[in-house]
Amino acid sequence: MLAILQHIVQEVNRARSLDDVLEIIVKEVRQAMGVDAASVYLTDFDRQQHVLMLTAGLDVDDMGSVRLNQGEGLIGLVARRAEPVNLADAIKDPRYKLIEGIGAEKFHAFLGVPIIHQRIVLGVLVIQGTRKKAFKDDDVAFLVTLAAQLAGAIAHAEARGQGSSIEKIKSRKHEQFIQGEAAAPGVGIGTAMVIFPAADLMAVPDREVEDIDEEIFLYQDALARVVKDIDDMQERLGESLEEENRVLFDAYALLVNSDTIVDDVIEGIKKGNWAPGALRDVIQYSAQKFEEMEDPYFRDRADDVREVGQRILQNLLEKEKTAREYPKKTILMGETIGATDLADAPVKNIVGVVSSRGSGSSHVAILARAMGIPVVMGAEDLDMSRIDRHAFIIDGYQGRLYMDPSPPVRREYARLAREDTELEKDLRVLQKLTAETTDGKRMPLYVNTGLVADIKPSIKSGAEGVGLYRTEFPFMIRDRFPGTEEQTAIYRQVLKAFSPRPVTLRTLDVGGDKSLPYFPIKEENPFLGWRGIRITLDHREIFLTQIHAMFKAAKGLDNLSILLPMISDLGELDEAILLIDQVFSEMQEDDEEVTWPGIGAMIEVPSAVYQAEEMAQRVDFLSIGTNDLTQYILAVDRNNARVAKLYDTLHPAVLRAINNVVEAGHKHGCPVGVCGEMAGDPAAAILLLGMGVDNLSMTVAGLPRIKWVIRSFSQRDARVMLTRVLQFTSAHAIRKYLNSALESVGLGSLIRAGK
Ligand code: PEP
Ligand code: MG
Repeated sequence: MLAILQHIVQEVNRARSLDDVLEIIVKEVRQAMGVDAASVYLTDFDRQQHVLMLTAGLDVDDMGSVRLNQGEGLIGLVARRAEPVNLADAIKDPRYKLIEGIGAEKFHAFLGVPIIHQRIVLGVLVIQGTRKKAFKDDDVAFLVTLAAQLAGAIAHAEARGQGSSIEKIKSRKHEQFIQGEAAAPGVGIGTAMVIFPAADLMAVPDREVEDIDEEIFLYQDALARVVKDIDDMQERLGESLEEENRVLFDAYALLVNSDTIVDDVIEGIKKGNWAPGALRDVIQYSAQKFEEMEDPYFRDRADDVREVGQRILQNLLEKEKTAREYPKKTILMGETIGATDLADAPVKNIVGVVSSRGSGSSHVAILARAMGIPVVMGAEDLDMSRIDRHAFIIDGYQGRLYMDPSPPVRREYARLAREDTELEKDLRVLQKLTAETTDGKRMPLYVNTGLVADIKPSIKSGAEGVGLYRTEFPFMIRDRFPGTEEQTAIYRQVLKAFSPRPVTLRTLDVGGDKSLPYFPIKEENPFLGWRGIRITLDHREIFLTQIHAMFKAAKGLDNLSILLPMISDLGELDEAILLIDQVFSEMQEDDEEVTWPGIGAMIEVPSAVYQAEEMAQRVDFLSIGTNDLTQYILAVDRNNARVAKLYDTLHPAVLRAINNVVEAGHKHGCPVGVCGEMAGDPAAAILLLGMGVDNLSMTVAGLPRIKWVIRSFSQRDARVMLTRVLQFTSAHAIRKYLNSALESVGLGSLIRAGK
């Protein structure tokens, strides 16, 4: 049964349109389960009806015309209860509704299971039999499992909006948009550019070619290079290989020269697709054919086909990457867009970032937010192979994406974008003013950065220093660890630009979702694994080099603080401080000019919350990293789109933890700042002010908004609100309360900017 299930799911996932998905489901289910009829009903939400989309077994000419009102009949029952209904003789059931003229009377046995995606019942999958006999438990289990796996594919196919069957439930897609997570505010109107991993041929998108002859030439050129590579390899290994193994290379060469790989791909290019897209189709088809063969030898050839395809792709892409042309207004899109993809792109052309995986707290989102670029993450229903170079609107406030938007939608969003520009102008007025509450409490506002490009805008924004400099960004864009001199130059630039204002450099915090291309870490559970201080204490050469560079960079400036990430144990803190002291003493011994810096610990895991008092006694300041703290307190992976809705920094448990840390720090005279994304959330800032947090550090784009908030409230009122909020039991209620507080002081326009 498992093999059949996998086969059906695989087939469905390969399907290109909703028509194909439905066709595969009814055909395969009917055959696999040996039943007389199999049908799929989908919900038309606007008309509140269940629509028979496709059947194998019932006698329907005009699919889409058979409709039941919501809740009507057994289909309605399955949808309403969202659970299976299994009956030996459905006709006898009082809830049964006979649909005339489709031969339904001859079926007695009925099993319907709901198709549920993201908690919404998309439809019902039904099997029927002519005998009066309920289906076995095994059948129910099979169909439930299948429906659960098919739900995503159906939702994806619907979202793509292709195929004639989509028309039948069209009312549910007036102005179609794809929903993801709102990860960075703003509106972008531009052209999609799909970024895909060169290591995955199947992730290649379709793309129209302008010059077909040129594309064919490029393809043939790539093929010739692959043939040469294979020849070279054969020659290199020739002597050490047995004759029979050498034949393997001949087989590869034969494959590369085969009609399929040469002619069929060229045929695909002639139809207008670029070479990588045409190659993907041919390889997919051909590998599948091999996989379906009886003979195990031939089945294994599917892997050879894929390997050859991959090799050709790499050759094709070598040229493509250097010649990559970013449209003037580019929306970067991909299954997994990483921080380096953004760093690689010409920033001035980028008006949006969309990733179908990940969430608002992924590092690419943080980086984009810092640059003021709207981001939507977790847009799972986007089919990356079909959207390249299409016009898109990205709504980073609501997490929506509009593909090929209609003129009215375009106009509406253009208006919104203009409003944003106006708001930015209003905020600029605040640049020279201090962040001070109406009752005179000063709240230093710092920026989070990691990019040299951020320095100028940060200073212009009126930031009073750098609260978090993520040193991993300069590490990410190199192909090896940067040496002392390189690091010194980078750090000096920031320290100098902000001097005499304070700059907090955080030691390398890789691992988790931040990887270095030249230092790969493969782990089952990276967020609970080797990351942050754990790595640098194990590789003290990296840590010592970095501290050395920081000290050198701060020479004569004296505005350096060092922040230690991911501290989960006091021993780590002691060890790190000892190493900093070691570098300090060595430099003194060498007569180098060096000043002891402020040292801070990040509070971003639960153990640090509970030991905040002990930490406060060892360091000069605490800095709460709410991004990780939220993920670890709530046990919600900050990159997992499926649980993104559960990730909320306003969760009562997170607020209590932060409040405890502030109290613990202050008990020992140790200042406490917040440097996670929460510090840039207007609603959350009120609470942090109420808690008595000593400074807030955020992306430069968010800073003016927070300044506005600080200047609009008194700390006394913020304290009262905090006391109230700490009694609330849900993040939702807390956000609602804070939003109305923002509205009451005339800051309603900031609300949509809050996460
Ligand atoms: C945090 O976890 O809140 C933080 C600021 O660190 P990062 O987002 O870089 O992990
Ligand atoms: Mg962190």
